[in-house]
Amino acid sequence: MTDDKNLENKEKTDGEKKEDRYEKVCMMCRRPESAAGPMIEMMNGLHICHDCMQRGFHAMSNANLDLASLLKNAPNVQFVDLGGIGEPLPKEQQIRKSEEDYVPFTMEDIPAPHRIKAALDQYVIGQEYAKKAISVAVYNHYKRLINEERKAEFDKENPEPDDPFVMRDDFVEVEKSNILMLGPTGSGKTYLVQTLARILDVPLAMTDATTLTEAGYIGDDIESVVSKLLAAADNDVSRAEHGIIFIDEIDKIAKKKNANQRDVSGEAVQQGMLKLLEGSVVEVPVGASSKNAMVPMKMIDTRNILFICGGAFPDLEEIIKERLNRHSSIGFHADLRDKYDDVPNLLKEVMTQDLRKYGMIPEFLGRLPVVFALDPLDEDMLVRILKEPRNAIIRQYQELLLMDEVKLSFEDEALRAIAKEAIAMDTGARALRAIIEKFMLDIMYEIPKDDNIGEVIITKEYIEHTGGPRVLMRGQGMY
Ligand code: ADP
Repeated sequence: MTDDKNLENKEKTDGEKKEDRYEKVCMMCRRPESAAGPMIEMMNGLHICHDCMQRGFHAMSNANLDLASLLKNAPNVQFVDLGGIGEPLPKEQQIRKSEEDYVPFTMEDIPAPHRIKAALDQYVIGQEYAKKAISVAVYNHYKRLINEERKAEFDKENPEPDDPFVMRDDFVEVEKSNILMLGPTGSGKTYLVQTLARILDVPLAMTDATTLTEAGYIGDDIESVVSKLLAAADNDVSRAEHGIIFIDEIDKIAKKKNANQRDVSGEAVQQGMLKLLEGSVVEVPVGASSKNAMVPMKMIDTRNILFICGGAFPDLEEIIKERLNRHSSIGFHADLRDKYDDVPNLLKEVMTQDLRKYGMIPEFLGRLPVVFALDPLDEDMLVRILKEPRNAIIRQYQELLLMDEVKLSFEDEALRAIAKEAIAMDTGARALRAIIEKFMLDIMYEIPKDDNIGEVIITKEYIEHTGGPRVLMRGQGMY
């Protein structure tokens, strides 16, 4: 069920009025009630905070009322857009009230790694190691949240003694298990994360590291992704604080080899992300991509957000190979220098030192303790991806044609021909849809014309442009 539906149903079952689930926002300074305190109700469902009301009285008691100067000193106002004052907030800027003690899972219902993996298996083909690693990392992540709750209680009961030499019973804190995923384009990194978030029913925000710049430069600043997560959580801060952020193309922010200019999109972005990955409180605009005039702002703590970074890391294999060769080419048992040339997925051998050499800074890598690589997709895997996942591409087309009461099937050889074509395109599984789309266009155009068509079989010849699909008429033989 989608997040929206979940929330809608919850609203219905709670019998609550919809507006009760959102925070009131001051019509003048646009701060929500969690920041500005209780609101005074005005006409037409608008509200004003005590500060602004006070300032209003103050201004009125002075001889000439000047609205602009009245607002100039209001909190949260950098420049004044008089046109926006008094207007209700657009839907995307309304902030949901937070449930303070919200945790997505309790110890009883936190899904065990094998259950997470079994759910992933229904959608993601192959990638056994990656699925296992991500399931365990996520399981530990949510266990860590429960651990944090317990720690808060422990701290309450066992306050830190004033004398620093007095030992107290301590509580073992679990560190964050942010993830770094390596794998070629189209090998399913994004898909794996999307599926995971859907299974767990937690909000997900995705961004591309290439669009990020250090705060203050043109481009999305690093914190903008937190704002996206808040939007994905339907402006519910507690849900956002337990969500997942996926940053793709992370290899593009590797340190430049010989950078003479200021590096605003490489090392500096890595530096800028450190705090976010580790956990810090950031103030983000609600329902807008940049901090400006009248957009409400909200504080988000990233401590419990799971960060997953992904990248193709081209040429990293060379660095790994060099390291492996260096180790094996010393001494009497020296191997041949090309020993590792034919190893299919050298990325699996990756170590932190290789990533450092690639240009990732050690502090950044230190905050991504779980590192694993995805397998490149071969022909067999591509064929399986075409037909096996719950929402496999060919199943989707079969469903569409079923609505015209036409059966659609693919010869095994045809699927193999599609996979071969995809491999030639070198964009992983991403090519599959584009290829099938091209062949299905004519079929989807022609079939509704003739009510007598009962079945269409996609043949290898059709894919290889040496023949056409086989068409069977209803109740008859081949056409
Ligand atoms: P990446 O992020 O690694 O570049 P994507 O996750 O965007 O690749 O993959 C592109 C598409 O290929 C996905 O939307 C998904 O439909 C399909 N796909 C890729 N790998 C798999 C897989 N292992 N199992 C099922 N589908 C996959």
